[in-house]
Amino acid sequence: KPVKQVGIVGWRGMVGSVLLQRMVEENDFNDIAASFFSTSSVGAPGPVINSVRSVLTDAYSLDALAEMDIIITCQGGEYTKSMYQSLIDHGWEGYWIDAASALRMDERACIILDPVNRENIDDSIKKGGKLFVGGNCSITLSLMGLAGLIKADLIEWMSVMTYQSASGAGAKHVRELIAQSAFVTRNLTPDELENAGSVLPLVNKVSELINSSDLPVENFGAPLMGSIIPWIDSDLGDGNSREEWKGEAETNKILGLKKGTIPVNGLCIRVGVIRCHSAAITMKLKREVDEADFAKMVSDAHPWVKYVPNNKEASVSQLTPAHISGTLKVGVGRYKKMALNNEPVYSVLTVGDQLLWGAAEPLRRMLNILLNRI
Ligand code: NAP
Repeated sequence: KPVKQVGIVGWRGMVGSVLLQRMVEENDFNDIAASFFSTSSVGAPGPVINSVRSVLTDAYSLDALAEMDIIITCQGGEYTKSMYQSLIDHGWEGYWIDAASALRMDERACIILDPVNRENIDDSIKKGGKLFVGGNCSITLSLMGLAGLIKADLIEWMSVMTYQSASGAGAKHVRELIAQSAFVTRNLTPDELENAGSVLPLVNKVSELINSSDLPVENFGAPLMGSIIPWIDSDLGDGNSREEWKGEAETNKILGLKKGTIPVNGLCIRVGVIRCHSAAITMKLKREVDEADFAKMVSDAHPWVKYVPNNKEASVSQLTPAHISGTLKVGVGRYKKMALNNEPVYSVLTVGDQLLWGAAEPLRRMLNILLNRI
């Protein structure tokens, strides 16, 4: 088989950098001829892969893109909207693998999460599908954590309350959170930080710094250090953010179910976490499932679940972004039956690295599925 030409767009962004790191770790570059594209630095040196440094190609050149058999883009929705259809209209017949949400609900698109929906992916390839899109990071991580319950068809509905990290919004945003923390620290004296006297003056000063007009908020539009931002993505005007709307729409599409089969709603909240999205889920199950059964079901579904028993010691040490960041395990814990009319309603907390299983990992796995199939 001739080696496939694979174009990578968005490789220096938050998702793209993790994608490259994972592809190097798994030797994915050994089986492809990779070209790197840029929207901002055409002709500049690209990343060094297998000791070879490439030169960046213009990500807006239809001719250059059309030479690729497969394109993976982590560039973002605006890029996808401006290039995908133009490339198809240009006569390109390759495969497009995308991290952005722009085309997820397009009827040509298959949302990719192979440990959960490998059959849908294979079916789409068989039917000539050429558009494969990674799911929303919070949904993907929750579905990874709960795959065992899904496979057993046990979920009636879910309320998903998310705690989403700064890096989920991109490279500039995570820098801004760190810059906000640095700004606050820079403006405190060693005396103020000393553990003596009343803490109230320190708390008041930090509160003032968080609200100061000198705090960098250009990207988030509001303080995140020491605060939360209770809205992610655009306002749909019906009380929901677009991020919240994705919950139900994508869950059902990923599972190959009719629209609205599993009702999902909740609130999506940005928190001052560097990396990893958490989701506190309330779910109604179709029958009682005790903790031992639940632990077995979710752990047996695939190798990337880390079940954390519902006690304080295990939860505090293992079910946290600090513990899970940078790993391919999705933490699942805080499982308990809720005291609500004795119905089979349970709580669970999932914690996963949104840059790995929530973004980059499904993309590189899709590349490998295609390389084996086409
Ligand atoms: P990002 O970090 O903002 O990167 C996107 C592009 O921005 C880069 O490829 C780069 O393009 C450009 N850029 C401009 N200034 C930059 C800087 N200072 N550092 C790095 N890149 C800079 O976006 P992202 O978070 O990777 O997200 C990409 C897509 O994936 C989005 O559609 C997003 O919704 C989706 N997604 C993100 C996550 C996540 O956790 N972040 C998870 C799932 C899906 P050039 O090199 O061409 O200039």
